[in-house]
Amino acid sequence: MLFEALTENFQRSLAALRGLDKITETNIEPTLKEVRRALIDADVNVKVVDILLAAIKEQALNMKVVKGVTPGQQFVKIVYDELIRLLGGDPATSSSKAGASPLPALAESPTKPTVILMAGLQGAGKTTQSAKLARLLQTEKRSRKKVLLVAADVQRPAAVEQLQTLGQQIETEVFIPAMVGTGSVTALEVATRALDYAKQKAFDFMIVDTAGRQVIDERLMEELQQIKRVLSPAEILLVVDGMIGQEAANITRAFHERIGITGAILTKMDGDTRGGAALSIKQISGAPIKFIGVGEKLDKLEKFYPDRMASRILGMGDIITLVERAQEAVDEKEAEQLARKMLEARFDFNDFLRQTRFVRSMGSFAGVLKLLPGVSGMLKEDQLRAGEKRLRLAESVINSMTPRERANPDLLTVDKTAASRMRRIARGSGRSLEQVESLMRDFVNMRNVMAQMSRRMMGGGSGAGPV
Ligand code: GDP
Repeated sequence: MLFEALTENFQRSLAALRGLDKITETNIEPTLKEVRRALIDADVNVKVVDILLAAIKEQALNMKVVKGVTPGQQFVKIVYDELIRLLGGDPATSSSKAGASPLPALAESPTKPTVILMAGLQGAGKTTQSAKLARLLQTEKRSRKKVLLVAADVQRPAAVEQLQTLGQQIETEVFIPAMVGTGSVTALEVATRALDYAKQKAFDFMIVDTAGRQVIDERLMEELQQIKRVLSPAEILLVVDGMIGQEAANITRAFHERIGITGAILTKMDGDTRGGAALSIKQISGAPIKFIGVGEKLDKLEKFYPDRMASRILGMGDIITLVERAQEAVDEKEAEQLARKMLEARFDFNDFLRQTRFVRSMGSFAGVLKLLPGVSGMLKEDQLRAGEKRLRLAESVINSMTPRERANPDLLTVDKTAASRMRRIARGSGRSLEQVESLMRDFVNMRNVMAQMSRRMMGGGSGAGPV
């Protein structure tokens, strides 16, 4: 499976960090070594790995310890955030919110047609991605833009035919070398004539599929440079086979130095691919990866999301969420609010349910309560354990309460309608009346514990008395 080896390696390296209170220069070293090996195994270019590790190390050493989360888990979060950054994202914004178009240059292009030049080695998926892109531009926001596909590969008739076939599938016109005239024509001639044609026929976009070689060669680069000069493309997209691994670094460097890419498309990400290529492309060119190809069919082109790619590399979504939750839990404002509610005994079933759900997603009742400033050490272990055992029960019972009951626990504890209410709730939740009653007792006990805490915090632990 994808990235399995990398994930396994990370897991192993994290085992070494588990149980440590603090991350130091010495104890982080073996873990960093493991991470390094894991990334290199995943075909990330060595130089890229070193840049990544330097950033990770610095942050790990400056890391503030968050209670309830192991340094290992926090470390994964650092690695994750750094991967996102290196992949061109912002760890603070989730991918679902990222609304920017992957092709911003296109929207700004003042002259028609807007030209997209596709570059890359043979077999990388240039022709297929050209057609996918054409399809996307034609259908995006129902824009009905006119797109011209240009087959500028004069060496391989098969490549031209392939583009024609794909063009038919998406009802897109394809400009072919034969349209330039008989005899041998150069790719530059095809590109130039195609541009005239596109202008004449008022095409909005022109996607130029260029020739590729199995290895980078001088002639290919020169041809591309010439085409670039004539077409002034808004985008020069490097198409890279996601399965190429380490080599992605050299390919990116070669193309970027000669023609200056504006973005990349990483293909075959549906297969047995590794993440190394994505990291290398971004690090070496600085150009963003705009799309990933996830299949041979023409609708298999997805917008590239740095955070999704980072998660895929790490394969550790759960841990990341856990760490984020814990960091939210110690969010001062929230903790303060909760503490105040507790002190004022305003803690109701809604709060209880929220906490119950939260605790269950975090794993440990004791662990979560300990995250609240001032609570750690005030509650006895057996009290905590008893609470933990009843969380599931509590959730089902509270779900059967009316909103009014949830907001007014007195209705179920001291009010004269309490008994009939509890019977109704028992029926609704499929629990016995005894279970509901005992839960109410638990809740009252919990409030009492809070009241005790409150008195202790305010009055130095000397019993009730006015405050
Ligand atoms: P070109 O030589 O760079 O133009 O590459 P092609 O577009 O001809 O693609 C080479 C092969 O890769 C073809 O068999 C494509 O169907 C296949 N291919 C292209 N993109 C993808 C992709 O995203 N996923 C998969 N699985 N195959 C792809």
